[in-house]
Amino acid sequence: MKRHRAAAKSIATRFASAALIGASLGFASLVALVINRLDYGLTVQATELGILSDHKLSSRLDADAKLIGARLDRLRSEASRNLASIAQRVDVQRAIAMQNVVAISEILGQAARTDNFDGIIAVDAGMRVIGAGSGNVDLLAVNKALHENAIGTRIWPLLDHNERGKPTTYSIIDALDTAMAAAVGAQSPALLAVIAIHPVFDDFGDVSGALIAHHALMPEEPTFVEFSALTNTALIVRTHDGVASQAGLPLKFLPEFTQLDNTFLITHDRQLISRCVNYTQFIETCALLQTKELYDLRADITRSGYTQGHILVFWLVGLSAFFLIFFAICSYILAKAVTRPLVRITQSVMALARGDWRTHVDVDVDERLDEVGDIARAVVELKVSVQERNRLKTQIAEHNATLTEQKDLLHIQNLRFNAALTNMSQGLCMLDPDKRVVVVNARYEELLGLDKGTIEIGCTLQQAVARVSGPDLQKSFQHIIELQKNMRSVQDRGNILVTLGDGRTIAVSQIATQDEGIVTTLADITARKRDEERIEYLAHHDYLTGLGNRITLRHELTSFEANFRSGDTLAILCLDLNRFKIVNDSYGHSVGDELLKIIGARLKKNVRKVDTVARVGGDEFVIVQRNPHSRDDIAELAKRIVETIAEPVMIEGRKLSIGVSIGIASAPDDGIDCDRLLKMADLALYRVKSLGVSNFRFFDPEMDARETERRGLERDLTNALENNEFYLLYQPIVDSHTTEIVGFEALLRWRHPERGIVSPAEFIPVAEEMGLIVPIGAWVVETACAAAMHWPESISVAVNISSLQVSGGGLGLTIVQALATSGLSPRRLELEITESVMLENNALTLATLHGLHDLGIRISMDDYGTGYSSLSSLRSFPFDKIKIDQSFVRELTGKDQNSLIVRSICSLAAGLGMTTVGEGVETNQQLEILRSAGCTALQGYFFGRPMSFEDARKIVAPERAGEVLNAA
Ligand code: C2E
Ligand code: MG
Ligand code: MG
Repeated sequence: MKRHRAAAKSIATRFASAALIGASLGFASLVALVINRLDYGLTVQATELGILSDHKLSSRLDADAKLIGARLDRLRSEASRNLASIAQRVDVQRAIAMQNVVAISEILGQAARTDNFDGIIAVDAGMRVIGAGSGNVDLLAVNKALHENAIGTRIWPLLDHNERGKPTTYSIIDALDTAMAAAVGAQSPALLAVIAIHPVFDDFGDVSGALIAHHALMPEEPTFVEFSALTNTALIVRTHDGVASQAGLPLKFLPEFTQLDNTFLITHDRQLISRCVNYTQFIETCALLQTKELYDLRADITRSGYTQGHILVFWLVGLSAFFLIFFAICSYILAKAVTRPLVRITQSVMALARGDWRTHVDVDVDERLDEVGDIARAVVELKVSVQERNRLKTQIAEHNATLTEQKDLLHIQNLRFNAALTNMSQGLCMLDPDKRVVVVNARYEELLGLDKGTIEIGCTLQQAVARVSGPDLQKSFQHIIELQKNMRSVQDRGNILVTLGDGRTIAVSQIATQDEGIVTTLADITARKRDEERIEYLAHHDYLTGLGNRITLRHELTSFEANFRSGDTLAILCLDLNRFKIVNDSYGHSVGDELLKIIGARLKKNVRKVDTVARVGGDEFVIVQRNPHSRDDIAELAKRIVETIAEPVMIEGRKLSIGVSIGIASAPDDGIDCDRLLKMADLALYRVKSLGVSNFRFFDPEMDARETERRGLERDLTNALENNEFYLLYQPIVDSHTTEIVGFEALLRWRHPERGIVSPAEFIPVAEEMGLIVPIGAWVVETACAAAMHWPESISVAVNISSLQVSGGGLGLTIVQALATSGLSPRRLELEITESVMLENNALTLATLHGLHDLGIRISMDDYGTGYSSLSSLRSFPFDKIKIDQSFVRELTGKDQNSLIVRSICSLAAGLGMTTVGEGVETNQQLEILRSAGCTALQGYFFGRPMSFEDARKIVAPERAGEVLNAA
């Protein structure tokens, strides 16, 4: 719509429309004018034609009238000729000459009838009438009439002078007076008559007389009738007295004409028009036509004129319309062929001007070879060129933007570079290929301790050195310059550390650049070096005591081993503080740490510089004594250390004393393999520790045998499960009030083929160390669950679970499988875990226990009281039961401290919603005390020793005692 409006507004369209309208109006006006003028012309033409037709008609009528005259002439000449032939007749001539009246009458009478004369009279040379064609004519009367008539005057010349060879005759058409008419014997009166006179000669050629003949015009003279018929015109011959003859009109027609106009006469009845011409002075011949014919002719001519005119107008209008339509079509074609493409081109150009490059010049530029095509091609060219120009402009703008961006970036980079240069912790100096300073920052001078401005841009470093005061500084500076001399090729690097006079260490790094310049950076690495030294120190020293650590120890031992020469001796003393854990637990870690520091210092104090003291564990130390002279020498050191450490210490106002156990191995007596030596010293330490007092002990081969024994145990344990060497015993747990069995605790036994029955206390730690406790534990759970299925439903089974099993992650699955396989209700299964499990405080452990607890399995805290007995352990998991360790029960007397502890544990458990089991009940007294302390259940030899599956079943279900239990 908008586009159309735009098109309508285009100059071309306006011009075309205006031209069309203007041309149409002009043309219409012209046509109207032409038609008007044509109409006027036609009117004039019609009038003119009317006049012309009148004229023509009048001419015709005039001609006709004249022809009537000619007919009269013919009548006259006919009469004359006829009369001549009569006059030349011999008989006539003789009769005349002889004046024989009878003969004359006879001959002339006949001749008159033959030649259509009304009468013929003969006169002699003296013009006396000598005869007449009719007998009854009064010749005298005729003679008289002849002489009195004008005719007579005409006869005389003929009679008087005439020649036979060339006779003079006379003929006339004239009015015939009555006398004359009567004289000649005319029968009927007539207004006009043809009178002919011819001389008659005698034999001698002299005029003997003359013949006078006349013929009165008839009312309808045949020649006129014939003429009228021929010309289709009515006619009259008239005199002043009236109509002499007529034709084509009714007889007795009395033409009374009035003047119609300048041309025609018209009858009174307006039926006929006429034109008359004078034949003689008193004879008129008139040609007549019906008035209607005149009007018809006029109408025809006018109509014909008008018709032609209208045809002309019609053609003119037709042609005008045709040309207008033609013009309109031409305009339309022009508009279509020129204006529309021009509009589209204009729109394209406007779109181009708006920057719309996608616009298409909607003109077939290839096929249009006219001016529009030229314009379109020009616009396409323009589009391409403007597009190209714009593309270039955009490119330039982009380039400019990039350049500006890069300039800004460069500026920013310069700012940053300057900021970096100014604020960088390193000193930087760039030299050009001539080794002149290009860039240097203040830090460079600052790091070298030079005065500000010592190094100027453009100077060489040698020149700068000359300005440096102080030999040390000069030396360091010179050092750097020397380093540069060695750098020749590109990317050559030179790194040195320069220690300045004030103790600072400066790392100098130089690199040759592409253009053979040099970049030197200085970094103050004093702090870094110190840190490195510190790290190095920490890597080899114990952070707490400042003693060496395992790495130092290994390093020391390796170096001994590597450099061992005959005669070299060495002693390794492994120290373990006695009951240090108690100090830690009782007084806190800060006290423990302080104690360790003091001990470390004491150890350090008691060894020589060549000896090494290392802390290798929480309360474990190792002393490497270099080149002891003898075993006594070593023993002396060990003794001294035992004594030194035994000395009480004051920490935070507390007096603490601690003991130490020392195991010793020495080289070369015990070998020079330091790993083995360490193990030997450890075995010796283990032995001292088992004695429980502060002392030292040298390694002896018997200890090795124990170690060997242990390894044997480990080996046998590996196959024990496979060899079905394990079995379970079940110890009853009873209700403290009713002493009825409420459950059994499954206790593991190992029936070794050679060693016999091995106690769990002996092999479980080994199995734990080896990781074998996991499959063994799984077997226990499986077997215990299967066994419990043979007990009454009220009796549960308790299984001991090692901390390794819980933290391993597979316990849940193991137990679920055991329950599923056996069909035991989870409510009948109890898992006994020790406090150590809770101490790990492992998220996985807790999640496992919660999962099992959610299944309905009860969880008991075993041996409560032996370890940390921490309340947080009880709080960290909702235990169902607390098993009070037998070490408390064993010494219960009722009034001792243990009874109080037991009572507190029971009330604490009751408060937390847990039940309690007193373990190791052997006497009735212990039973009573525990019962009165509120203990819920009891377990001990007093109620039953750990027993076989069969025995257990006998107690709880004697009726099923005979059944064989495959699973057990
Ligand atoms: P525990 O779980 O505290 O088991 C009770 C121990 O006390 C058992 O020793 C039992 O025979 C003993 N005992 C019970 N009543 C009395 C009594 O009145 N007087 C004395 N003197 N002792 C009594 P046992 O069977 O040698 O087991 C020792 C420890 O070995 C168990 O202590 C338990 O911690 C561990 N243990 C036993 N079986 C397994 C097992 O299948 N798996 C794991 N991880 N540990 C087990
Ligand atoms: Mg137990
Ligand atoms: Mg126990």
